[in-house]
Amino acid sequence: MKVVSSDIVISAVKPDQYPETELPEFALAGRSNVGKSSFINKMLNRKGLARISSKPGKTQTLNFYLINEILHFVDVPGYGYAKVSKTERAAWGKMIETYFTSREQLRAAVLIVDLRHPPTTDDVMMYDFLKHYEIPCVIIATKADKIPKGKWQKHLKVTRETLDLDKNDHLVMFSSETGEGKDQAWKILQSFM
Ligand code: GDP
Repeated sequence: MKVVSSDIVISAVKPDQYPETELPEFALAGRSNVGKSSFINKMLNRKGLARISSKPGKTQTLNFYLINEILHFVDVPGYGYAKVSKTERAAWGKMIETYFTSREQLRAAVLIVDLRHPPTTDDVMMYDFLKHYEIPCVIIATKADKIPKGKWQKHLKVTRETLDLDKNDHLVMFSSETGEGKDQAWKILQSFM
């Protein structure tokens, strides 16, 4: 998809702050520092729209981006950051549970993982949570530029097996540096619209 417009429309914490539209929505989740902001910026051809490497654990809001006036990306705050207090962690859990269990506009979750390493325990928990609620998932294995091409298939296999990926879910190798996987990712997202 050719992105011609993208803007943040709201940072929400509660359902009454979610945008009141019927537009299809994709929620983006991932461990802090995995490359989620870079993924969003690459997909939207924007440099600094999603903040790259903002303090992990700081922004506990769901950031809604309106794209081409026809869909929303929802940036979910990153997880797995050690220095987050129990209270903050609980607030995060409540916020995402509310969102994922009640948002009818949600078409699929986009879970960002690091292709270089097997998905972490937190990644597996996030994926299991999404599967528990029967939410279709697109797994983005990013930072592909950091490993040699010859090892890509091996790393994809580890990613697929560690997550115990459902056969209906998608796995896309990605790089925010080179744009690898961008067209494929858009094609898959559009198939949900
Ligand atoms: P976030 O915390 O998940 O939003 O992660 P960021 O997008 O801020 O990325 C964390 C770090 O990884 C930054 O230094 C990025 O420049 C780097 N990064 C993200 N994606 C890629 C990628 O595809 N390739 C490479 N080489 N670096 C990346």
